[in-house]
Amino acid sequence: MPARIIDGKAVAAKIRAEVKEAAAALAGRGTTPGLAVILVGDDPASRIYVNGKKRSCAELGLYSEEHALPATTTQAELLTLIERLNADPRIHGILVQLPLPEGLDEQAILAAIDPRKDVDGFHPVNMGRLLTGLPGFVPCTPAGIMELIREAGVEIRGAECVVVGRSNIVGKPVALLLLAAHGTVTICHSRTKDLGAVCRRANILVVAAGRPGLVTAGMIKPGATVIDVGTTRLPGGRLAGDVDFAAASEVAGAITPVPGGVGPMTIAMLMRNTVQAAAWSIEGSPF
Ligand code: NAD
Repeated sequence: MPARIIDGKAVAAKIRAEVKEAAAALAGRGTTPGLAVILVGDDPASRIYVNGKKRSCAELGLYSEEHALPATTTQAELLTLIERLNADPRIHGILVQLPLPEGLDEQAILAAIDPRKDVDGFHPVNMGRLLTGLPGFVPCTPAGIMELIREAGVEIRGAECVVVGRSNIVGKPVALLLLAAHGTVTICHSRTKDLGAVCRRANILVVAAGRPGLVTAGMIKPGATVIDVGTTRLPGGRLAGDVDFAAASEVAGAITPVPGGVGPMTIAMLMRNTVQAAAWSIEGSPF
């Protein structure tokens, strides 16, 4: 039986509707959630992402402001801007679009953001809170992946969960979230021996490697839930995931498509984090 397709667009639309309502309620109490997006340099993909984030803010009733800086911006200039935004009461979320141009220290920049405004969840404080099970901001793509798994109706407790990829942005945080949900979690990476054998153990398989076609149907346990995070732009312009979708959907129980799976969830979760930051700013944050 072909796999059920997990519709990321539909799940994201539901979350966006909830966020819009929550933002309106906060605005009614005098606090319009505000997001500052910092873009350094002129990477075309980053420009598209930033435009999408600004558009989402406008659609959902959030205030947003863009800080587009030249690639020649110095570390000190960027840190000064972040300090100013940290102190700005209209701004509840600060997002630095990655990757930063060479010469800027990404980790130092992310660490300068007030953790209470770190809606991307990349600050070491939020990473640490995730690791220790304290409330904080969870990175958007992993948070979106968890929503999709829940939507698929899959029991995580006790399930064999395999994550392919160990980046700070996707692999590691999604592994921590699966662990917190009582999954038995294995993390694979580029040095893993016999990736297929490990993947075949998975009831829940999350693939975030950025290698089109890495996961074939033979690496999937029949009936497994497969979340394909990969997005690679192929020379012809097509967006490719990491999983061989056509063959895998004959084996998996449920699977996300690319595009239309994880992608739409990321911005929806960013909007949700920003509204959460605004709510915490008036109700008191758990930090
Ligand atoms: P990354 O390059 O930082 O990390 C890739 C990881 O995959 C590494 O840990 C590496 O060890 C592992 N890997 C690479 N080749 C492998 C192999 N042959 N076998 C096993 N593991 C291998 O990438 P990232 O930032 O984590 O992103 C991963 C993918 O997810 C990319 O395609 C990216 O575009 C996509 N992504 C999508 C969204 C979204 O919103 N849909 C968000 C973030 C990332």
